Amino acid sequence: MSKVKYLVKIDQVEQLSQEEKEQLKKVTEKYKFRANDYYLGLINWEDPNDPIRNLIIPQMGELEEWGRLDASNEKSYTISKGLQHKYRDTALLLVNDVCGGFCRFCFRKRLFINVGAEVVRDVSEDLEYIRQHKEITNVLLTGGDPLLLATEKLENIIKQIREIEHVQIIRIGSKMVAFNPHRIIDDPKLIEMIKKYSTDEKKIYIMTQFNHPNEITDVAIKAVNMLLKAGAILANQTPLIKGVNADYKTLEALFKKLSFIGVPPYYVFQGRPVAGNKPFAVPVEEGYQIFLKAIMNVSGLAKRAKFAMSHETGKIEVAGLTKEHIIFRYQRAHDPNNAGKFMVYKRNPNAYWLDDYKELVEEFVVENPQP
Ligand code: SF4
Repeated sequence: MSKVKYLVKIDQVEQLSQEEKEQLKKVTEKYKFRANDYYLGLINWEDPNDPIRNLIIPQMGELEEWGRLDASNEKSYTISKGLQHKYRDTALLLVNDVCGGFCRFCFRKRLFINVGAEVVRDVSEDLEYIRQHKEITNVLLTGGDPLLLATEKLENIIKQIREIEHVQIIRIGSKMVAFNPHRIIDDPKLIEMIKKYSTDEKKIYIMTQFNHPNEITDVAIKAVNMLLKAGAILANQTPLIKGVNADYKTLEALFKKLSFIGVPPYYVFQGRPVAGNKPFAVPVEEGYQIFLKAIMNVSGLAKRAKFAMSHETGKIEVAGLTKEHIIFRYQRAHDPNNAGKFMVYKRNPNAYWLDDYKELVEEFVVENPQP
């Protein structure tokens, strides 16, 4: 059994010089640092632009004024502490405010700043809401990382959700397969729990977050296979991150590797304009072009991802680009009137978010063909 050591102070990263540590402390006072020795071991320290380094080691650019902490206004969909209900059939439970490391580009870094403010420890009130709302067929456990909870605690939550008849899918959003696969490999109880609650009719989905192919190590693949054999369904989502995966060759390699190991690429997200995230931001149109180029030479199985932004109003896919226009389409919409709606805007190469598009040319919904 391997023991992975967690680091919570930048001082503990022995590969950084004293000068670097002193400088970066200014960043970590604002946005917390957390890593572990397994993950830091993936970094090539000779390369100042190593993608894993960029993902986990703070950088001074994070102090640049930009964006806001809750860029998708999750607050407005919060029903009670820890429970968000944005789309009719899906509820989110924020069950933890810690992760296997803190991604520097995290869109929920506010949870690590205001520890305990939004995360629920006792889910009973939230589960009662889900019980009362029969339209909820999907529950997503998220945070933070639910797999950082003790297995008994996680099982206690999953067991209670499974008892709610109308909930079909339980999703666990977790980066632990990438951050620390030993969390899965070394815990037979976790595997047993998945076997028990991912049933023939009602599956447990694990939404992985591999951001770069270098994270898909032999140990990570072993953890993936243990989860698959236990009966979980896996799918991967990642933002497009400057300095990590925002070039088409890296993204293409990621898609290919994911398809080889049986983890379908699900969403590639436009990075939210979150405070501290300027160094990782890629303009929407540039990002879409990278995405299109990345899927050009991969098999159909490797190109199942959609490029979308998790906007306050819904999940909006970038559906096309012409010389003058950009076309968006609602994949998921909070307001049913927006469901499936197309929106055509005049292009803006400097846009980082939907709100940066000012000239709406047209919007329409394609009607279902009548039988
Ligand atoms: S794993 Fe997710 S919640 Fe945790 S730091 Fe990374 S992006 Fe944020």
